[in-house]
Amino acid sequence: MTIAHRMGSKAWDGQSDRFSPVYNPATGEQTAQVRLADATDVDAVVTAASDAFGTWRHSSLSTRTRIMFAFRELLKRGVPDLARCITAEHGKTVTDAEGEITRGLEVVEFACGIPQLLKGEYSERVSTGTDVCSIRQPLGVAAGITPFNFPAMVPMWMFPIAIACGNCFVLKPSERDPSAALMLADWFSGAGLPDGVFNVIQGDRVAVDALLAHPGVAAVSFVGSTPIARHVYRSAAASGKRVQALGGAKNHMIVLPDADLDRAADAAVSAGYGSAGERCMAVSVVVAVDPVGDALVERIAERTRDLIVGDGTDAGVDMGPLVTAEHRDRVRTMVDTGVAEGAALVVDGRGLTVPDRPGGHWLGPCLFDRVTPEMEVYRQEIFGPVLCVVRAGSYDEAVGLVADNPWGNGVALFTSSGAAARRFQLEVEAGMVGLNVPIPVPVSYHSFGGWGDSLFGDTHVYGPDGVRFYTRGKVVTARWSDPRTGAPDLGFPAQ
Ligand code: NAD
Repeated sequence: MTIAHRMGSKAWDGQSDRFSPVYNPATGEQTAQVRLADATDVDAVVTAASDAFGTWRHSSLSTRTRIMFAFRELLKRGVPDLARCITAEHGKTVTDAEGEITRGLEVVEFACGIPQLLKGEYSERVSTGTDVCSIRQPLGVAAGITPFNFPAMVPMWMFPIAIACGNCFVLKPSERDPSAALMLADWFSGAGLPDGVFNVIQGDRVAVDALLAHPGVAAVSFVGSTPIARHVYRSAAASGKRVQALGGAKNHMIVLPDADLDRAADAAVSAGYGSAGERCMAVSVVVAVDPVGDALVERIAERTRDLIVGDGTDAGVDMGPLVTAEHRDRVRTMVDTGVAEGAALVVDGRGLTVPDRPGGHWLGPCLFDRVTPEMEVYRQEIFGPVLCVVRAGSYDEAVGLVADNPWGNGVALFTSSGAAARRFQLEVEAGMVGLNVPIPVPVSYHSFGGWGDSLFGDTHVYGPDGVRFYTRGKVVTARWSDPRTGAPDLGFPAQ
């Protein structure tokens, strides 16, 4: 089977004949190939979106809202099918896939309120006979470039708000799990969205670079690894585009001596190994503040050994395979590196096999203790089921580790002290903070974004920042003087 692009309501092959394999990570079998667009294909889809913008920008707010509500209904009805499609290409459990769709659905629901969100401001009588209003207008064609790990949720962080604001959208999903985007586009079109407003172009770096250079693209939203985020930010900005580029992460969870250790261990295991650690908000480092190290590691290890790894479509499975065999091998090599560096491998998942699925991209959960900041396992984003415990002598040392980290996506503190929590919230260097919450992903009416190497750009995604990103301000100063009074005044108004 060949997976290709979508221009509005129509499936479209484009002209390029480069392909990339798509696998079922639980079996290791290739299930499809995806067509990789070239610059000519990108130009065709951006042109279709630009043409559609001429009409869509003038659509009424009630039309946009009605279509958004209809899309929400189709999406809600399609959750089981979409979740199975995600599991088949990504490998995460079906329950986890349903969870990611629900978080995306919340953004669609936020976008249903677009009339309220686009209300401008009005100042009456700023000077005699003069009023001023501020309005926000769409930008044109916005592009979204998204990672493999949330093939439905991350695109939904972007396109519902962009489109509700009156823009047209070109989505370039990950070539590793390209099908979810096509299902979303199909439902949006079924909800009454005019052709050309939402389009999907499949591809790799060739398609990305063509989008970044295309003069018809006004804004770029990117989510992926830090080196590519940096490249996207620089290239898009150099072409004069508005850009937000979210990068990788190394999220720390600090456990203070007064924390409930059972609760903290539950949180570390769920946030460390959920979705096989392939989450940008996964906890990858637990910082145990003296003297809780031994007791905490013992509790985390106990729970880690109990995790059931298997095909994400099977009931009772806690963790699925990794997305590709190459990624699994890279993560396993990082575990070898940690052992060679002298970290204590308390739980070793490298030997894991799954009955009846010998070709799956398996790696069992791995737990390292006594990791130090100089080690590669601490310095690299591993993006797999590997949790590192670092021992810290004090709260200050633990917070210093977060500040010294190049990324600043999410961070969590586990404590029973309100004073410690308040101090942490004020001084910690990260964009999203959890207090006794391990994965503090903001709800859709707040915005999502990290600091440092986790986000290049000024605005976070979705929520109020999403509306700001996908619109530009216009201020109108109007004077309607009574024609019966006075001659034209060329001076600056004084009263
Ligand atoms: P990736 O950077 O490899 O790919 C992301 C997108 O960029 C894909 O669409 C891909 O086709 C494209 N791409 C890949 N190489 C490119 C290149 N050389 N030039 C131009 N485009 C290129 O990321 P991934 O492996 O798909 O996803 C995992 C990464 O994404 C992790 O680092 C994770 O932390 C990060 N992530 C971050 C967030 C966040 O909110 N900050 C959310 C999800 C994932």
